[in-house]
Amino acid sequence: TPDIPCRCTYKVGDPKDKSPHCHEKWEPRKPGIYSSTLDAIGDTPMIRLDRLAKKEGIKCELIAKCEYFNSGGSVKDRIAIRMLQEMEKTGKIKKGDTIIEPSSGNTGIGVALVTAVMGYKCIIVMPQRMSLEKEYTMRALGAELIRTPASGFKGEDTHIGYAFKLQKETPNSHILNQYVNPYNPIVHYDVTAEEIIHQCDGKLDMIVIGAGTGGMVAGISRKIKERIPSCRIVSVDPVGSIMAEPPALNAAGVKPFEVEGIGHDFVPTVLAKDCIDQWIKVGDKETFLMARRLVKEEGLLCGGSSGTTVVAALEACRDLKAGQRCVVLIPDSIRNYMTKHLNDDWMIEKGLMDDKRRITCKEARD
Ligand code: PMP
Repeated sequence: TPDIPCRCTYKVGDPKDKSPHCHEKWEPRKPGIYSSTLDAIGDTPMIRLDRLAKKEGIKCELIAKCEYFNSGGSVKDRIAIRMLQEMEKTGKIKKGDTIIEPSSGNTGIGVALVTAVMGYKCIIVMPQRMSLEKEYTMRALGAELIRTPASGFKGEDTHIGYAFKLQKETPNSHILNQYVNPYNPIVHYDVTAEEIIHQCDGKLDMIVIGAGTGGMVAGISRKIKERIPSCRIVSVDPVGSIMAEPPALNAAGVKPFEVEGIGHDFVPTVLAKDCIDQWIKVGDKETFLMARRLVKEEGLLCGGSSGTTVVAALEACRDLKAGQRCVVLIPDSIRNYMTKHLNDDWMIEKGLMDDKRRITCKEARD
């Protein structure tokens, strides 16, 4: 690993100790028995995508950081626990209070899971277009769920707008607000990026990361640029969203799209773009066909935005040579989309798959 100290190694008493980062040196988790499901958040595996790389004529190593192995099934468990721990540490919340969070679903699942274990009430506000599977998971975890017709923050029919109205009306309630909360990117800077650098022995030439709130790409890219300045950072934005740079990439304007968890018609505060070298736009059809290929060809039980990210990675890493390495972030699990892109009827109805490719289930007959 290049010899550049990270901010989380500053000792207590250092002037920089006032930074909001974790000040203990990151260490890989020790094996043993966990005290709760919260301990099974983080330390996710990295898995080579050799079959896909070979078929696509990719010369470099293609490696997936598989975040669906987290307790709640996505990368967002990491921010849920960190944002709540920081609220507890600073005495802003007490057991039994209500945590409200606007979410496209995965942060909602993470917050529902963490609050269930830590002893808080939970209300998640999620736009209508997000999957029923996410809703069922959150409700099973004991969260109350509110659906809004729109996403965004302008007006009470949006998920962020409604969450703030609800917070004013609900006694002893607090919003974590992942879209502006500094601990969203900070946990990825302090922990997720450390894991990746450690797992790769500091050898990393490119990393490709989708942007929803942008916390993941902002936090990981900053740490990697500090430690491995030669590593190229690529971010991914769905067609129909306007988060990519330069703005000409978003010329198609704001349009509806199906992939969940990435893309917005606004740029969230936590999305610092300064460490991102390149943006790639990807449409729904390529996204979902690739998500299905990842399941079928690599056995990766991942969600739709993983497809978006891998499509972009295959484009970006084409110039890398043998012996170089490209890492892709796989944010969530197939569990969230069983009735969506995993279902041939849904794919065909949305014009994302050819009818001829439908796989039907045979029935046993006498
Ligand atoms: N993919 C999925 C499925 C997600 O739920 C999210 C989080 N919204 C992301 C990607 C992007 O993560 P971030 O919010 O950190 O940009």
